[in-house]
Amino acid sequence: MQKPPVTIQDKQFSIYIPERKILHSVEIVAARLSHDYKGKQPLFLSVLNGSFMFASDLMKEMSIECEIAFMRLSSYADMESTGQVKEIMGLKEDIRGRHVVVVEDIVDTGHTIAGLIPQLQEKGAASIEVATLLIKPESLQHELNIKYPAMSIANDFVVGYGLDYNGLGRNLRDIYKVM
Ligand code: 5GP
Ligand code: MG
Repeated sequence: MQKPPVTIQDKQFSIYIPERKILHSVEIVAARLSHDYKGKQPLFLSVLNGSFMFASDLMKEMSIECEIAFMRLSSYADMESTGQVKEIMGLKEDIRGRHVVVVEDIVDTGHTIAGLIPQLQEKGAASIEVATLLIKPESLQHELNIKYPAMSIANDFVVGYGLDYNGLGRNLRDIYKVM
């Protein structure tokens, strides 16, 4: 049976991607990463807040040695990208010589990733790739090579599975889109 819509503040959201489909796509990405990074002990860099649930499920599916670190970057207010990417906050780990996999909830315009990658390169990472739960190919405004997207979606605003609307909705197990 289809799940009913949910209301968050002034907006209604309808079910879009069910949990089982999300988890299946996470397994596939984890299998690819486990294969590609064998012997490299990758450092996952989870971009907070949105990617915490994806990062957690991704780690559980990894079958090789890997580490995780967290950082914060905020470029979004309400439902629109501000286009401004802030500096990395809270990254204490030395990433010099490390194989870094940035873990994102969603790549929308690509401003965040386009701003972040040069900062990580400056810190001396040996390699940098991006694993994202969702990508909106129609909104991309940068030439980015996102090697590990779990799922592609249309240009809709989504919540759930870590993604929020004004801080709410992150606890939903499924992904919902605005109606
Ligand atoms: P970008 O810099 O690629 O435009 O956007 C990246 C960030 O914007 C994401 O990490 C995410 O936090 C936020 N974002 C983009 N699209 C959505 C969306 O549909 N729903 C939610 N909740 N956040 C989004
Ligand atoms: Mg994000």
